[in-house]
Amino acid sequence: MRRLMLVAFAAALAAPVQAQSPLDSLRGLKDQLKQDSKPAPQPSAAAPQAKPEAAPKTGPAADLPPLPAFGDVPVQDEVKHGRHIAGSLLGAAPLVDDPALQQYVNRVGRWVALHSERPDLPWTFGVIDSADINAFAAPGGYIFVTRGLYAMLRDEAELAGVLGHEIAHVTRKHHLKVMQQSQMIGAGSDLLARRLAKGDDRVRGLIGTGAEIMARGLDKDAEFEADRDGVVLATRAGYDSYGLPSVLQEIGRVAAGSDSVSLLFQTHPHPDDRLARLGEAMGARFDGVSGARNLPERLRRAQK
Ligand SMILES: [Zn+2]
Repeated sequence: MRRLMLVAFAAALAAPVQAQSPLDSLRGLKDQLKQDSKPAPQPSAAAPQAKPEAAPKTGPAADLPPLPAFGDVPVQDEVKHGRHIAGSLLGAAPLVDDPALQQYVNRVGRWVALHSERPDLPWTFGVIDSADINAFAAPGGYIFVTRGLYAMLRDEAELAGVLGHEIAHVTRKHHLKVMQQSQMIGAGSDLLARRLAKGDDRVRGLIGTGAEIMARGLDKDAEFEADRDGVVLATRAGYDSYGLPSVLQEIGRVAAGSDSVSLLFQTHPHPDDRLARLGEAMGARFDGVSGARNLPERLRRAQK
């Protein structure tokens, strides 16, 4: 059984999961963003008069399907919203220009996501060029880790744990549900803007783009749930279960007043609380998992 799993593991890491490379798909997002932000062309004097009903829709959110206040969102609509949010985030913080690194993070992320309840989403992962220590998930399977957080990782099991936490936000539809609910109560975007304005400039730049949902805190229970799921997913994928706890421990050592963690600490419970809750949930059940791997030698270092 274990040998079978290892064979599958090696195969998944060796073969591209989709024909389009993740980097191409991320570049596509950036191009789409540029298109969205282009001003509408001015009608020239020579152009024939356009009929009003044929006028193209403008604005970045024009083509986004409405979200129902309750109940299920069709997967294709969820992906459209997530893609839009991911494009906005990349407009504020570009990808680290290191294709091999992006490929690597996608291989690990997709392998972990294959062990989730939603293996068929178009999972896309990226490392964004920000010194902040943070990670983000958007509906539909778009997940980003900052360069600052990536630099803290010591092995592939830690990366798998961090990605597992974000994958869980997507499979549990944490952000999607907030988007549905906030629409119901009229978005409260002024309130959100005021809250975010107290924080980071980079976050302020996201207001109104749709990406603020990624910078907005979920409730604590959603975070604890994502921690538990993240550990389970990384373990199912063959990694040491303690990857995520060890990253949390490391983040807990960063001074709370430090700029690099201010947004993370605003939007998540303190790492010590997360560790305590995880410890209760995990108990000793993960201690005897055999064949679990850390793979420090395989963690790809970001180019400086
Ligand atoms: Zn989270």
